[in-house]
Amino acid sequence: MQAFDTHEVRNTVAPFENVNLYAADPALQEALLREGAADAAASLHALGAELGRAETLDLARLANLYPPTLHNFDRQGQRIDEVEFHPSWHGLMALLIGHGTHSSPWQGGPGAQVARAARYLLFGQLENGSQCPVTMTYASVPALKQAPRIAARWLPKILSNDYDPRLLPIEQKRGAIIGMGMTEKQGGSDVRANTTRAEPVLPSEARALFGEEGEDVFRIVGHKWFFSAPQSDAHLILAQTDTEGSAGLSCFFLPRYLPNGERNAIRVQRLKDKVGNRSNASSEVEFTGAYGWLIGKQGRGIPTILEMGSHTRLDCVLGSAGAMRAALTHALHHARRRVAFGRPLAEQPLMQNVLADLALESEAATVFAMRLARCFDEISDPLQAMLARVLTPAGKYWICKRGPGFGAEAMEVIGGSGYVEESPLARLYRELPVNSIWEGSGNVMCLDLLRALSKSPEAREALAAELALAGNGDTFFVAYRSTLMADLTQQQPDEFTARVLAERVVLAVQAALLLRHAPGYVSAAFMASRLKREPGGAYGRLPPGVDCAAILARALVE
Ligand SMILES: Cc1cc2nc3c(=O)[nH]c(=O)nc-3n(C[C@H](O)[C@H](O)[C@H](O)COP(=O)(O)OP(=O)(O)OC[C@H]3O[C@@H](n4cnc5c(N)ncnc54)[C@H](O)[C@@H]3O)c2cc1C
Repeated sequence: MQAFDTHEVRNTVAPFENVNLYAADPALQEALLREGAADAAASLHALGAELGRAETLDLARLANLYPPTLHNFDRQGQRIDEVEFHPSWHGLMALLIGHGTHSSPWQGGPGAQVARAARYLLFGQLENGSQCPVTMTYASVPALKQAPRIAARWLPKILSNDYDPRLLPIEQKRGAIIGMGMTEKQGGSDVRANTTRAEPVLPSEARALFGEEGEDVFRIVGHKWFFSAPQSDAHLILAQTDTEGSAGLSCFFLPRYLPNGERNAIRVQRLKDKVGNRSNASSEVEFTGAYGWLIGKQGRGIPTILEMGSHTRLDCVLGSAGAMRAALTHALHHARRRVAFGRPLAEQPLMQNVLADLALESEAATVFAMRLARCFDEISDPLQAMLARVLTPAGKYWICKRGPGFGAEAMEVIGGSGYVEESPLARLYRELPVNSIWEGSGNVMCLDLLRALSKSPEAREALAAELALAGNGDTFFVAYRSTLMADLTQQQPDEFTARVLAERVVLAVQAALLLRHAPGYVSAAFMASRLKREPGGAYGRLPPGVDCAAILARALVE
């Protein structure tokens, strides 16, 4: 050391990068195989390596450091409403779209939803803002199939794995992305409060304007308070119609370019300055006589767009499971290397308790999310459809709700260096609350679960059948399951306690899956900490006797 050198840099930890995110995660690999997508294992292995590379991980940093910019006008003062992105954003989108994360389940094949879920979960460990437009595009497909003419023209572009960000009429594009607009200033959860109105265009006028495409055309006036990915080629939106006999909300397809080559009247007012999800453009818009094409029946807009909602909610569960997994891997990688008081943090009992608790939460989220994805593969089976009806809102509530606390705890494992912008934990921490807010906020999900359970005995039966698969070997689980099912059958739906109910449903399903499929040291610790005692607010409350070393060795294979 030179005389004036102040210090030697040591006992700091190199970033978690150049790892195979898939190979590092035994719980995800096992879930992929058992939920019916074994054929995708090799491609996921390759994707895990690609996403874990330092250069790929850096795209996430850059896309959030240089968020999108809105240009309302060009140099000549013409209205353009275009969003400019950093090249890293396009790199992320090209990866997501190139791997069919928006399209593969609609192109068939056994286990396609499960394989796509595993890919989405891996992408969730890379960058979350770019997952938003990809999710909306994926989820738009079932709704669009209700409008055969639009589907014939648009689906080949939507299902293309060629990312094409150019703002052009659809005929000139290699691929297209789709957004959705429901939320207005006066109501997001309660979309019936929407004031945006749609008036039918006379058939003769519509045909004169749009030729063969001049069917079911409406003119739309109003606004949307949240309208993510305004750069999308089209959006599905809700607007009020008032045609005799079918008043109410209807669903419309709003392309950015009209079939006659003109731009649609969608004015992007500004981009939101968000807590997280900063790489993604979320806007406020006004429709000043935009043209929209009716999707589904008039007055049936909510069920039409809810078909989209069930898929976006699945992605919220997958996205939170992915972001929690990312937080865990950064924390564990750090704790294995950082020495305090003479030993690596990961070898110190109290830190082991915290890390193992986080690892259990992450594995439980992963197995739940992958099981839910299989319901979507088997949605034509009424039992699986019913199970999805129950587990989607319950999982969207509980797993997304666990995210922010998880992110904070993982940040604390890294200490002060976790709480700076250079740390990926800062981005993850800001990212984690959003899955709980959009696509139906926590309370709304719990109320939806109550609706599902109280409306149909089949919903309870589907849950009972899933829980029964865990058998009768664990007496504590059997008792927990019996009490839950008895409460579901005997108690009146109670809004006041709906969060507790959703939590119990998810914990029971997670425990059942872990009992069936995870090593005994994982399921025993999960049961001891989540079912036998109140979870409490903090991590690191595992009871004595838990095999933390085994849990941590499984949690991250480095
Ligand atoms: C980053 C971001 C991007 C978004 N992008 C889009 C988009 O692209 N398209 C789009 O349509 N929307 C989008 N949203 C909007 C989002 O879906 C809404 O914010 C969300 O649905 C909640 O609606 P709200 O904000 O109007 O809140 P409110 O509806 O006012 O709800 C506020 C709170 O009250 C609770 N609540 C509501 N009703 C009840 C009840 N009956 N009992 C108990 N509690 C209740 C809710 O759970 C919530 O916690 C986006 C939001 C964010 C944060």
